[in-house]
Amino acid sequence: MVDLSKKYDVLVAGGGNAALCAAISARREGASVLVLEGAPKFYRGGNTRHTRNIRCAHDSATDTLTGPYSEEELWDDLLRITSGQTDEPLAKHMIRESKEILVWLTEQGVRYQPSLGGTLTLGRTNSFFLGGGRAMLNTLYRKAEELGVDVLYEAPVTALDIRDAMFVSATATIGGAATTVRAGTLVAACGGFESNIEWLKQYWGEAAENFLIRGTRYNRGSVLRMLLDAGVQEVGDPTQCHAVAIDARAPKYDGGIITRLDCVIFGIVVNKLAKRFYDEGEDIWPKRYAIWGRLVASQPDQIGYIIFDASSLSLFMPSLFPAVKGNTIGEVAEQFDLDPSTLEQTVAEYNAAVRPGTFNYMDLDDCRTEGLTPPKSHWARRIEKPPFYGYPVRPGITFTYLGTRVNKQAKMIMKSGEPSGNMFAAGEIMAGNVLGKGYAAGIGMTIGSVFGRIAGREAARNARN
Ligand SMILES: Cc1cc2nc3c(=O)[nH]c(=O)nc-3n(C[C@H](O)[C@H](O)[C@H](O)COP(=O)(O)OP(=O)(O)OC[C@H]3O[C@@H](n4cnc5c(N)ncnc54)[C@H](O)[C@@H]3O)c2cc1C
Repeated sequence: MVDLSKKYDVLVAGGGNAALCAAISARREGASVLVLEGAPKFYRGGNTRHTRNIRCAHDSATDTLTGPYSEEELWDDLLRITSGQTDEPLAKHMIRESKEILVWLTEQGVRYQPSLGGTLTLGRTNSFFLGGGRAMLNTLYRKAEELGVDVLYEAPVTALDIRDAMFVSATATIGGAATTVRAGTLVAACGGFESNIEWLKQYWGEAAENFLIRGTRYNRGSVLRMLLDAGVQEVGDPTQCHAVAIDARAPKYDGGIITRLDCVIFGIVVNKLAKRFYDEGEDIWPKRYAIWGRLVASQPDQIGYIIFDASSLSLFMPSLFPAVKGNTIGEVAEQFDLDPSTLEQTVAEYNAAVRPGTFNYMDLDDCRTEGLTPPKSHWARRIEKPPFYGYPVRPGITFTYLGTRVNKQAKMIMKSGEPSGNMFAAGEIMAGNVLGKGYAAGIGMTIGSVFGRIAGREAARNARN
């Protein structure tokens, strides 16, 4: 039985990877810990449920990783994908700590498997969770409970009492009633604001109505809002987020990875006017997949259509939904309510611009267009072999980057520049410290695990001193 009359050492708000790493780490330091998860038990664990892998530095190959991935190489990758928009000392600290995380997670019971082949070739750099993110999460919950962490579900934090940069207590809805929860320290690990369409609209306007949320509906940014309003320094650009192109038929929330479309490079992408708008072959797919959500978001009605032919159908992992099929381009256009003659003309112009080359979708090949705007720089092959196919795509928001500024102890920094006395943050809610923009597969779980572990440890020490 959870005793809410007592004052816990550490209150963890959230129930995903960052929260559980924090809870376990705090408990292992001897602290009493309460986890308040806003979601019902079935949906516990937010976006973490959907994950597959984590990117950590390591010095040598392991049973499940094909080779070393040095701190320097991970730093280079991070620098490149963020175009330098990262807090260098903090990011380097995270990378150094990431070397211990694979082992630390194993100590909590998490298991890995070698990566499978597919569109993301990550066998050397990323560790894949055996059974996926849900299995990883179940393991962390089991371990937390075994260690004596208290967990409440359907217990969203609705208010925070913060005075002079110090957390005093939280109000949470527990059993349907507003309840005060006291603790010596707070670890905020409740995700970004990606599910809050009204908040997204502040930056994206009405376009946000057409965004699909790839993960949980519970990450509404309410605790983030409370913290920023209480004087915590914000970090990150509110318009920056991880957004990919996903099947437009996906549900509004929680479509997960099976609605992602990785076939952009095999065809052309048109908007609702049946016109192309970006180079589909700009760079290899793992480096470019995360820009397509934003690209589609800036098109009329936030919709796009990937058009390809029979020669590409078996080259990529399909979406959960079958592709639309037609014997002619016009037939495909009609099923999407696109103007058939315009789409036929777009395809004809594209076909005419394709130059001969040796097709190799694993590399930057020499199949490209000439004299076409926008060009297709690689993997350009004529779309001419029936049947023809199409997928409708919409922006799929994974998570937002606006967050709370933290230091190396995962302690929140106040607007004054001083660290808070007893408030810590981990995971998506502070991802913007490391990710000013861009994304590298697996880094979300690195941020959550590394800062979760640190936040829990530091919160426990803070509460007990
Ligand atoms: C489809 C998909 C696939 C992904 N794949 C990967 C991958 O393979 N590798 C990777 O590194 N990253 C991946 N990510 C990103 C990754 O999911 C996140 O970076 C990571 O899970 C964030 O962990 P977190 O604990 O910060 O947030 P979450 O796991 O989202 O947890 C946040 C928690 O806070 C709770 N919460 C929210 N508000 C409140 C409140 N007011 N009170 C109490 N609780 C609250 C939520 O219910 C939730 O449990 C993926 C994301 C998606 C959507």
